[in-house]
Amino acid sequence: MPRECQRSEYHVFQPLTSSPQGYGRQDLSSENQNYKGHGLSKGKEREQRASIRFKTTLMNTLMDVLRHRPGWVEVKDWLRENFDHTYMDEHVRISHFRNHYELTRKNYMVKNLKRFRKQLEREAGKLEAAKCDFFPKTFEMPCEYHLFVEEFRKNPGITWIMKPVARSQGKGIFLFRRLKDIMDWRKDTRSSDNQKDDIPVENYVAQRYIENPYLIGGRKFDLRVYVLVMSYIPLRAWLYRDGFARFSNTRFTLNSIDDQYVHLTNVAVQKTSPDYHPKKGCKWMLQRFRQYLASKHRPEAVETLFRDIDNIFVKSLQSVQKVIISDKHCFELYGYDILIDQDLKPWLLEVNASPSLTASSQEDYELKTCLLEDTLHVVDMEARLTGREKRVGGFDLMWNDGPVSREEGAPDLSGMGNFVTNTHLGCVNDRKKQLRQLFCSLQLQKKASS
Ligand code: ADP
Repeated sequence: MPRECQRSEYHVFQPLTSSPQGYGRQDLSSENQNYKGHGLSKGKEREQRASIRFKTTLMNTLMDVLRHRPGWVEVKDWLRENFDHTYMDEHVRISHFRNHYELTRKNYMVKNLKRFRKQLEREAGKLEAAKCDFFPKTFEMPCEYHLFVEEFRKNPGITWIMKPVARSQGKGIFLFRRLKDIMDWRKDTRSSDNQKDDIPVENYVAQRYIENPYLIGGRKFDLRVYVLVMSYIPLRAWLYRDGFARFSNTRFTLNSIDDQYVHLTNVAVQKTSPDYHPKKGCKWMLQRFRQYLASKHRPEAVETLFRDIDNIFVKSLQSVQKVIISDKHCFELYGYDILIDQDLKPWLLEVNASPSLTASSQEDYELKTCLLEDTLHVVDMEARLTGREKRVGGFDLMWNDGPVSREEGAPDLSGMGNFVTNTHLGCVNDRKKQLRQLFCSLQLQKKASS
């Protein structure tokens, strides 16, 4: 198993019943007949239908959500045989795609995006390919050291950031402006005889540093946004309405490139800053952020920004669509890290396969538990959905083998003129009300058809 896989937490869900009918969406239309066929009493039938075994390696918000979910039971000794994807019972669900690192490791993500950009240029032209220009120029080190040096010399004086490809939480990152700061990654020095026995240098990416981040109160921030992929072929992706902006504690300046409290917005880094206030934290919910932008910019500018952010989700997922091993047992909740610059252009920094689910405040706890509850609603082990829903709690269906329109009915994609995508990032999240209505109407539909 690749190292990247071992880093991720796995969560496995499986219906407890030995008779799986009724759990798959494809079975839903015949579900009632199946259950009648069991000859069980109504109470037993409900009990059996609601019994779902779960196993998780996490002891945080996720465990709270799973333990409180009606009919779900934790198992202690069952994970291993389901863990390696070699064999999975029909109705098992697992929270990662097998080779998710194609998108979630910094070097692979860039490699896939570069390849996809080229493909788009060939097949759809330069304009379409330009829609992939949302990641800062990036080189893999040490293997692209020489290419990097060429680029470095073309743009003297700019700032670069070095990031280890497989670490997280800001670990191992540094900024630089001089080649001598990255001497260790010079490939040719490694191949010379007297260095043969050296431990190979850790793989990094050298990336153009965004020197003009959008600042609020003089401080830099990035956005954490959640995207749930239920399938790659066809691509079916949901966007969560809530997320947050993570601020640095210290005012932004390019004068001190060695100060990680200025340049790295990871909570794990900022938490260790002497100015950090545990009560105040360093987060804004996305709704607050969107309202802030609306008070400072024209509505069209804000709309364009959020449309550009949607484009990042779709294009990045499409870039790995043919690479990810498609498996109907798998789903993935990604945490996207997005930085916005002073021209309101969003940049993709990275995609996380195991976004932090640990809560740093009450507000954060609520966001994460609601996010997880809604993820489970969409995963739908209970088989309550019809498969035609465009919204489930805080999730809006963004892509379903094509863009999803906010309007009802089949979208007119001819010129994409009036097409409005079904995304509501940073908008009101009245999820409780929506879930009540949704499950109520699903129950009524079921009653009517039984
Ligand atoms: P990690 O996986 O360690 O969190 P990230 O790529 O998310 O690595 O980078 C950590 C932080 O560094 C980001 O949250 C952001 O604040 C900053 N950062 C990363 N890349 C860039 C960049 N190209 N330009 C500006 N800031 C960056």
